[in-house]
Amino acid sequence: MKEESSDKLSVVADNIKRIRENIENAKIRAGRTDTVRLMGVTKTVDPVLVNFSVEQGVRLLGENRVQEFLDKRDRYEGGPEIHFIGGLQTNKVKYIIDKVSMIHSADSEHLIEEINKRAAGKGLRMDILIEVNIGGEESKSGIKPEQLDELAFKTAELPNVRLRGLMAIPPVDVDGSSDRYFAQMQRLFCDLREKTFKDGRFMIDTLSMGMSGDYESAVMHGSNIVRIGSLLYGYRNYT
Ligand SMILES: *Cc1c(COP(=O)(O)O)cnc(C)c1O
Repeated sequence: MKEESSDKLSVVADNIKRIRENIENAKIRAGRTDTVRLMGVTKTVDPVLVNFSVEQGVRLLGENRVQEFLDKRDRYEGGPEIHFIGGLQTNKVKYIIDKVSMIHSADSEHLIEEINKRAAGKGLRMDILIEVNIGGEESKSGIKPEQLDELAFKTAELPNVRLRGLMAIPPVDVDGSSDRYFAQMQRLFCDLREKTFKDGRFMIDTLSMGMSGDYESAVMHGSNIVRIGSLLYGYRNYT
């Protein structure tokens, strides 16, 4: 197994510390006292480095490539919680259904029905987030905001999924432009929570948004899972 140099590890330790401080400061500015979870996004990252981050208290990992995750998962140590956050084809759901505890990228009725079916086959109930294409970008997945209510209430009819909230990847931030998208997401999230809070089929408590370039702004707008890759593990080479 490849050894990571101690230099690289100390950089990751420093990154984690700095990100946590920035999250805390953003919470203070927003007047928040609730918990914001730091997710380590592991794509292309060596499991040795991932394990080190888990040791340093990053207890939640985000996976976005099915094959890479299946190849790497046996090398993970320390019992991290793992969520699937990437684009998910229906025919791949069966490979991950009993290996992750939440799917952030549910973006169609068809996919959610498949998750429900595969979860039923394993006798489990899968937590899901609906992904919203808040910037209306052609290149991005996610539903339109105006489709949310209908899809949310459809999930309630499926006994083996449980809707926990929303996820978004807004357009790349240019001079704070993601602020207004995060604000729109926060409004959608609060509306959804209000509409469903007396309905036991829902448990809306998770707003997953914010990445390396914009997580502080996301925390200012109520995000409670920030998904950080490059800023945590170092800039990666995409293949
Ligand atoms: C890669 C990725 C991230 C993390 O991106 P960084 O900018 O490297 O922090 C977060 N969410 C999703 C869905 C991703 O694919």
